[in-house]
Amino acid sequence: MGEPAYDVVVVGAGIVGAACAAEFARRGMRVAVVDRDVIGGGATAAGMGHIVVMDDSDAQFALTRYSQQLWRELRPELPDDVEYEECGTIWVAADEQEMAEVSRKREYYVRRGVATEILDAERLKHLEPNLRDGLAGGLLVPDDGVLYPPCAARFLIEHAQKLGTKLKLGAPAVEIGQGRVRLEDGLEIASKLIVNAAGAASPELTPGIEVKKRKGHLVISDRYPGFVRHQLVELGYLKSAHSVTSDSVAFNVQPRRTGQILIGSSRQYGEDKEVDSAMLARMLQRAQEYMPAIGSMSAIRTWTGFRAATPDKLPLIGPSLGDKSVFLATGHEGLGITTSLATAKILADQVTGSKAEIPIEPYLPSRVEKEFAHA
Ligand SMILES: Cc1cc2nc3c(=O)[nH]c(=O)nc-3n(C[C@H](O)[C@H](O)[C@H](O)COP(=O)(O)OP(=O)(O)OC[C@H]3O[C@@H](n4cnc5c(N)ncnc54)[C@H](O)[C@@H]3O)c2cc1C
Repeated sequence: MGEPAYDVVVVGAGIVGAACAAEFARRGMRVAVVDRDVIGGGATAAGMGHIVVMDDSDAQFALTRYSQQLWRELRPELPDDVEYEECGTIWVAADEQEMAEVSRKREYYVRRGVATEILDAERLKHLEPNLRDGLAGGLLVPDDGVLYPPCAARFLIEHAQKLGTKLKLGAPAVEIGQGRVRLEDGLEIASKLIVNAAGAASPELTPGIEVKKRKGHLVISDRYPGFVRHQLVELGYLKSAHSVTSDSVAFNVQPRRTGQILIGSSRQYGEDKEVDSAMLARMLQRAQEYMPAIGSMSAIRTWTGFRAATPDKLPLIGPSLGDKSVFLATGHEGLGITTSLATAKILADQVTGSKAEIPIEPYLPSRVEKEFAHA
C-alpha cells in the first residue's frame, strides 16, 4: 500500500475542526476537511461567541485563558465580518453572597495575571444603566470578548485552504478508523491521522465516548444600539452550567456590533431540537429579572443548538483509546468557540511531539476509562 494522500483528515468543519485544520496546515501537514453540511453549521452557528476566561477548574481556566490570548493575538488578522469586539465580561452579583463570590473570583484571576475590576452597585449602574436597580455589583473582566462564530470558522478554513488544505462539504463520514475515512457515497480517504471534530455527533463516529447533547436556546433581538455594552452574565450562571442533572437557565446577554442583543442561556439534556416554549419563557423571564426593558423588546429569531457535554466538563483532546489513527477534538460543551484555538494547538503539539504551552493531561481522552468498556 502506498503512502496515504493526507497526513490528517479532519471530520467536522465547525470552529474546532476549522481551528485544527488551520493549525495542522500551518505546521506543514497535508490536510483535508470533510463536513456533512456547511462550514460552521452545527453548534458553531448556534453558539453565542463569547470569548471568556472561566475558573470552574484549574484545567478549564488554563485552556480558556490560553485560548483567549490566542484570539487576542489573532485579532489583527480577523476580517471585519468576524465582528471581534473586546467588550469585556461583567459577572453580575445580585446580592452580598454573590459579592463574596466576586471577591473569590477576582483573587483567583489576579493570582493568574488576568485583569479584573470589582464594581460596586453605583459603578455597575454607570457601566450598564439598563440593569435593574438594587443589584449588589459585579466583576469586570475587560480582556474577554465576543465574535461571530460562523464567520470565524470560515476564516480559519480559508486560512487552512491557502496553505493547501482540501475541503469537502456535504460529505457525511459514516466510519473512521484504521487510517481511513469512509464517506456516505462510498469514497474512502486514506490518512495517517483522522481528527474526530464532529461536535455533538462525535460519538456516532467514535462509539463509546462520553459525549452527550446538551441543548441550549438563544434569542436575538431587533437593533437597540447601546442598550448593553458588555457581555453580562449572572454569577448564578456558574450554578446553571454546573448543574449536571437538571434543566437550568441563567441571565446571559451579549451586545452585537449591529446593535442587536443576543439573549441566553438555557441548558437541558435531550435530542429534540425544537424550541421548548416553557424553557424559552423561563430564560426570558430570567433576563427580564436583570434587565426589565428586555420584556418590551422585539425578538427577531429564536433557535436551539447542541453543546457536546462530557461528565467532567472538560473537552476530549488527544488520541482515542480504540484506534491509533483517530484523535479526538470534541466535548467542548459551552466553551468551544473560546477554546477552539487552544484545542488546535495542543492537539497539533501532541501529533508533532512538541511541548504544549499548558499541561495536556486533563484533556486526554484516556482520563475517561469507560470509553474502552463501551467500545
Ligand atoms: C446556545 C449555545 C450557546 C453557546 N455559547 C458559547 C459561547 O458564548 N462561547 C463559547 O465559547 N462557546 C459557546 N457555545 C459552545 C460552542 O458553540 C461549541 O462548543 C462549539 O461550536 C463546538 O464546535 P465544534 O466544531 O466542536 O462543533 P460543531 O460546530 O457542532 O461542528 C461539528 C461539525 O461536524 C459536522 N459533522 C457531524 N457529524 C459528521 C459526520 N458524520 N460527517 C461529517 N461531518 C460531520 C457537523 O456538520 C458540524 O459542522 C455555545 C453553544 C450553544 C449551543
